[in-house]
Amino acid sequence: MVELMHRSAHPGRSGRFGNHVSGPILAISALISVSCMVLLSGCGGSPPRRTPTAQPAALLEARGALEQGEIVRARHIFSSLESPERPLSLRGMARIGLGRCAIAEGDLDGAIRHLGVARKLLPSGSQHARVRLYLGEAQLRSGAINSGLNQLETAYPALLEADDRSRAAFLITRTLDQLGDAVPALYRTAAGHHSYPEYSSIWQRTRPAPPTVVAVPPAPPVVPPVQKRPTHPRLKIHQRNSWNARPVRTSSVVPMSRPTRITIHHTADQPAIAALGIREPKAYLRRIQDYCTGSLKWGDIGYHYLISSDGRIWEGRPLKYQGAHAGNNSLNRGNIGIALIGNFDEDRPSSSQVKSLGSLLSALTSVHGIGSNRIYGHQDLRDTGCPGTHLQAVLSRLVSKLNRISTARKTR
Ligand SMILES: [Zn+2]
Repeated sequence: MVELMHRSAHPGRSGRFGNHVSGPILAISALISVSCMVLLSGCGGSPPRRTPTAQPAALLEARGALEQGEIVRARHIFSSLESPERPLSLRGMARIGLGRCAIAEGDLDGAIRHLGVARKLLPSGSQHARVRLYLGEAQLRSGAINSGLNQLETAYPALLEADDRSRAAFLITRTLDQLGDAVPALYRTAAGHHSYPEYSSIWQRTRPAPPTVVAVPPAPPVVPPVQKRPTHPRLKIHQRNSWNARPVRTSSVVPMSRPTRITIHHTADQPAIAALGIREPKAYLRRIQDYCTGSLKWGDIGYHYLISSDGRIWEGRPLKYQGAHAGNNSLNRGNIGIALIGNFDEDRPSSSQVKSLGSLLSALTSVHGIGSNRIYGHQDLRDTGCPGTHLQAVLSRLVSKLNRISTARKTR
């Protein structure tokens, strides 16, 4: 469960932690304290039960109207409660109501806008968790599956009303089932035998539309170009024993679900360890593993692969275990983590590194059947500067290239 608890291998460089940490460095205590907060709220233990605070009659009336399907009346009351002279918490709850009205009417952009305001007005507590619940629903409906799961899993432990909790658990369970991913027993149990037919449309449209058939004139015969090198160059990956990795602490990792995406990071190390990463990758990897398993008490290093500036590819956490690199359990699920050693806000990745990254991505997408549209820079998934401006730019080019290659293969 530790991986579920300690959700992030490293914080984003420009995220709220301020630095992109992988080494034994200053921001560790901040990282640990934040991770532990996530631990307390996210490990699925029972949070202390508090009674929901009494709410003004008008708010309850509006919620009743909404549940009866009287959207216009509900919106009218919620809007009247949203005026600036009202207390912030009431305005926040009114915005939640307006967001729910928008969801009910299929206006997902409007819903996300109202709920974004609500989130600022209700910065913490159970009402903040309710914002996340509905934001999660709106994101699932708009197809942002990972973001939606992320909101719902964060909301779940802080929700006080039984109905809110079973709704969150139901949404998480059904979505993970749809993805073919493992469902934590906690959610399966909480979802129980509840049925929410109003959600069914969320999962109906996940099947891709059949391709449009377009009449294409027959192409002239193409003479295949002479192969200058094998299509799949042999990829050399330096196994864990090459850097004397210590064994994975299996009690502290969770099995990897089917890999469906890949996320690229930079290590952006503090000066004390940055030079080691370039000079002595093996010693560097051992230091990082010691830090992750010692200070952070994780089961292993967080990334599945690391690439040093000489272009060597190193095996990190074995792929049979879920990584700890993207930010939380939802983001890490089925997500292969690759880190390039270096700081690519400051430097450019070396040509050997870029070449190895391209080969690794090509091999991983081909072996696991992952589409090139499912390769992300860390900043594509969450608020962070990782993997640095230079690497993010390189990554865009690599992904376009992979895209062209796979399109060419399909049309051949
Ligand atoms: Zn990152």
